[in-house]
Parts: sequence; structure tokens; C-alpha cells
Amino acid sequence: MVAGAFAGVILLVPAESVCAMARRRQIYEGKAKILYEGPEPGTLIQYFKDDATAFNAQKRGTINGKGVLNNRISEHVFTLLGNIGVPTHFIRRLNMREQLIRQVEIVPIEVIVRNVAAGTLSKRLGLEEGTPLPRTLIEYCYKDDALGDPLVAEEHIACFNWCSQDELHDIQDMAIRINDFMSGMFAAVGIRLVDFKLEFGRLYDGDYSRIILADEISPDGCRLWDMNTNEKLDKDRFRRDLGGEVEAYQEVARRLGLMPEGGDNAVLDLETHRKKKGS
Ligand code: 5GP
Repeated sequence: MVAGAFAGVILLVPAESVCAMARRRQIYEGKAKILYEGPEPGTLIQYFKDDATAFNAQKRGTINGKGVLNNRISEHVFTLLGNIGVPTHFIRRLNMREQLIRQVEIVPIEVIVRNVAAGTLSKRLGLEEGTPLPRTLIEYCYKDDALGDPLVAEEHIACFNWCSQDELHDIQDMAIRINDFMSGMFAAVGIRLVDFKLEFGRLYDGDYSRIILADEISPDGCRLWDMNTNEKLDKDRFRRDLGGEVEAYQEVARRLGLMPEGGDNAVLDLETHRKKKGS
């Protein structure tokens, strides 16, 4: 609560409302994030919610603290990608749940990068989950909630001009580079990067635009498996009712060195967690 005095009357309002009052115009609300107008032209504020959805929003829930963890994990990954020369929309983290980003025109394609068979690829092609793929596979889904983000071919992208051929080449180059970097980053902390989703946007400079990485990279949009136990450390815990979502996200953050050491959160043991929950 925050106390405010107006004309001699003491008002007690939740701290969140004060933040909301100070905030600028809401531009967009998605399933896991809200975008607000930024402090300068060409910038936005990306707010990470705790809301979780799956199966085209047919399953809905809340993962307490997810927004805080995703904000921090995404900041970390985008900063490292920026350091190796991948252009991204990330400018800086503002607070626990918000980051300042560059405003882009989102390319309406979800880029899925896969190293190991899982999820819809396993279902579609009858591949056992966990089967390593002979080479990295890039798939594209058309971003349309009403249609359930259908899988599309490069020909669809060209036919409907969702992006130009040059833009698609840039996207493919960046996706491979991001995959190489992230596979190493996660392998170094005992995590297998099974697959993940990327989104890209056009950053305009006058009449010209270039493609940069947008959205977020977090356990919401990646499959992350413990290398030794194959324990899932990602949103599949929510999608598949496995429990321990928060602990899994915390474990990813902890292994990346993003959690304060020594606290209750410093050790993850999903086995114990499950036993405690009686499942
Ligand atoms: P699949 O196609 O197997 O469901 O997902 C492949 C990968 O892309 C998974 O890591 C999954 O988390 C991610 N992914 C696919 N679609 C979405 C989406 O709409 N939102 C998010 N957050 N991740 C997605």
C-alpha cells in the first residue's frame, strides 16, 4: 500500500496502482506480456505477467513469479546475444517485471528451432520425444491466435509476403547463430536446449528497415531438459500438468547465475517438490 494525501484526505492505494497511474498508454496485451508506450519515441516498455496459457489459450493458469523470472532470464540471454553481435530489441531492464525495448514491426511468423524431437514435431511425424535430429530444423508458424498459429512453409511466407526473401535469410542466419550460442550456454550449465521459439521485428530507420530479434527468450518458449535426468525445466511442466513450474524456472535462473545464492531458492529438487505435493 502507498499513502497519498489529497485535500487533507489520506488515500491508501495498492502500490501496483500507483505504478499503473504513472505508466503511459497500453499499446498491446498478449498472453504473457503487456506492451506500454516507452519514455521516448521508438521505445516500448515490455511488462512480464505471471499468466500462463497453453494449447492456443485453451488451458490458462498463473505461475507465481514467472514474470519476474522470465524478465531476468530474457534480459540475460538478450544481453549475451547482443554481445556476440545479434541485433535485438532489448535496451535495458527497468525493474522486476519490466524492460525497455525498441519498438519494432513484428514479422507475423514464429520461428521454431529444433535440435531434438519433441512436442508437435514428435506428434506430427511419429518421432519419439528425445530423439536427436540429424540436423537443426527450422520451422515457421503463422502468428494468428484464431487459427492456432498454423505451421507454414517458406512458400507461404513468400506467397503472402509476410517477409521478403532477404529478411527471411537474415532471420535464418540469426536463428542458427542464436541456436549455436544458446545450445552452448545451456550445455555449460547442464541443460539440453531441445527447441525454442523466436520472433523477429523490423526496426525502421526512415524508409529503411532491418530485422532484429524481438519478444523474449525464456522457459515459456524453450524446451529445456536437464542433461542428466531429462527433467523438464520449462513450460511443459504447466502444459503437461507436471507441477513444479516455479521451481523449474527458478532452477534455470539459478544455473545461469541469476538467483541470489544461499536463499531458499538456491537449490532445486523437483523430486522432493513432487513428494511434498504428494504427486
Ligand atoms: P511445439 O511446436 O512443439 O509445441 O513447440 C516448439 C517450441 O516452440 C517449444 O519450445 C515451445 O515452447 C515453443 N513455442 C511454440 N509456439 C509457442 C507459442 O505460441 N508461445 C510460446 N511461448 N512458445 C511457443
